[in-house]
Amino acid sequence: MPAKELTGSCMDCKDADAVLTTRNRSLCGPCYQVFLEHKVYRRMERYRKYPDPGSPSYRLLLPLSLGVSSSSLLRMLDTGMNRQLAKNARTSYTIEIIAIEPFTHAYDEALYTKRFEAARETFSKYTFNRIPLHSIFDYVPNMTEAMREYVGSQFKDDTSRSNEERLAAFRGANSTATSKADLDNVLFTQLVVGYAKQTGCESILWADSDTSLAAKTLAGAAKGRGAALTWQVSDAMSPWGVRFDFPCRDISKPELALYESVSPDLSDIVIPDEPLSENILTKNLSIDELMLRYVTTQGEKYPGVMANVSRTANKLDSYSSLDSTICSLCSAIVDNVKGNETGITVASQFSVQKPQFCYGCTRSRPEIDS
Ligand SMILES: [Zn+2]
Ligand SMILES: [Zn+2]
Repeated sequence: MPAKELTGSCMDCKDADAVLTTRNRSLCGPCYQVFLEHKVYRRMERYRKYPDPGSPSYRLLLPLSLGVSSSSLLRMLDTGMNRQLAKNARTSYTIEIIAIEPFTHAYDEALYTKRFEAARETFSKYTFNRIPLHSIFDYVPNMTEAMREYVGSQFKDDTSRSNEERLAAFRGANSTATSKADLDNVLFTQLVVGYAKQTGCESILWADSDTSLAAKTLAGAAKGRGAALTWQVSDAMSPWGVRFDFPCRDISKPELALYESVSPDLSDIVIPDEPLSENILTKNLSIDELMLRYVTTQGEKYPGVMANVSRTANKLDSYSSLDSTICSLCSAIVDNVKGNETGITVASQFSVQKPQFCYGCTRSRPEIDS
């Protein structure tokens, strides 16, 4: 977002020239950075308390897409970390970084590698790893079974083929834009969770802005994934025993873009978002893309409304029932969700024992020959 032409000095430090206006305040670059970083630190409160002496620091996983949000979050956390290190011999938490290689047609591997290496070099005190989506077979033990059951008998999973080919065949079996995108989201989350579990991380720090959380909330409801929304948009325990936290939930996407623009060290790292094309036919868009477009355009006009959507979603009761049956694919609760007792459940509909799928996954499922 281009900063407006400004005259006068920063309202915070009263020293440097103001370069931007945010929430009716004219600030210089460094003061704006502090302003946003403070919003993230507040959300990181529970990890800023030091564990007992002798106990290890919290281990947190940050999925890095090299987009504006996750790169900015990494920089903000790094600043907080440096502040802790200036006063203490150790930090209250450590951060592990995982990059899942993009699986879209627009993926430019050479550019991605360059940006990934730049991030690793800039933030050299963290462990970085990058893995492709098809490594899901290595990190998520029951994926093969869930996948076979999900697509049904017309899909032949050939384990002699490479994981990449197997995943391509599975994704190819899902026909509509929404079901493809929906499934990619499920697989992506499963892989990050599988990685967090294998590396002993207790929480995943998702970089969603309030804009993205509002889009997720609306799309989740539209796709029948309301049961999974609780942990997909709130700071809470997920069904896998790994916490989900959203430290950027009080920040909008344009504010993160502004943060990037005043942080020159991010310019070699961030891969810009693909611009939203006006020419794409709406029917070819997935519900997720449609909602993101809607929230992005409307959020500029009504930022308070979007912040309210994500704030309300954060108040939903988190996943807590231990005896519930959970979906084999996405881990949402399959049977009677509290407050939704009349909803269709796969268990009651198909009377299958194992695996079972939630309402949202069933809706994205290809037509099954019975
Ligand atoms: Zn200032
Ligand atoms: Zn599901």
